[in-house]
Amino acid sequence: MDSVVVHTSTHVGWIEVICGSMFSGKTEELIRRLRRARIARQRVEIFKPAVDSRFSTEDVVSHDENVLRSTPVESAPQIILLSGSATVVGIDEAQFFGTELVNVCQRLASDGKRVIVAGLDQDYRGLPFEPMPDLMAVAEFVTKLHAICVVCGNPANHSQRILSSDERVVVGGGEAYEPRCRRCFSPEPQPPAPQSPGSAREQAASAAVRETTGHPTT
Ligand code: ZN
Repeated sequence: MDSVVVHTSTHVGWIEVICGSMFSGKTEELIRRLRRARIARQRVEIFKPAVDSRFSTEDVVSHDENVLRSTPVESAPQIILLSGSATVVGIDEAQFFGTELVNVCQRLASDGKRVIVAGLDQDYRGLPFEPMPDLMAVAEFVTKLHAICVVCGNPANHSQRILSSDERVVVGGGEAYEPRCRRCFSPEPQPPAPQSPGSAREQAASAAVRETTGHPTT
């Protein structure tokens, strides 16, 4: 993603999308980009949906406990009202905002802001998860991250639900989902993969933390 970094005009906005399955390192990558903007003394605002209360109500916290202060919002249009004079706007867990987030991001970018959006691109059935497909279409830059399949160790593109539920999103971490590849994934909830020391599951967890480039790390 270094190609993004060279585009530093303060007058032209754009949209960056960071997508992938759970445990693919999306939030870590979002935090990395926002930190670098802060180091450059750019005004950064970070938003996340109020529904995502897994860890903390005010911080964007990744699974490896990287932390940035963020503002929880109930709906996407609030982001326009609250972003003010920020030149860089980060949005985490974008899949919770619904389709109105697309127009919000377009407007922010048209106003000259760099908009960085992270979210799940597929739901637990492996179907495209709006608004991410539309955001990917209108974004200038798209980074797709991968976890590692806990069953076979190949690049994982899916979030396998391992609890039975009809909800489209079960907010949670390792207890509700695990990363799986195309071959090992099923739209139906599955029992978790067997866990053993040095297992693919442990490797997937640590690889998700390390991964920052969007290339499969096998
Ligand atoms: Zn697999």
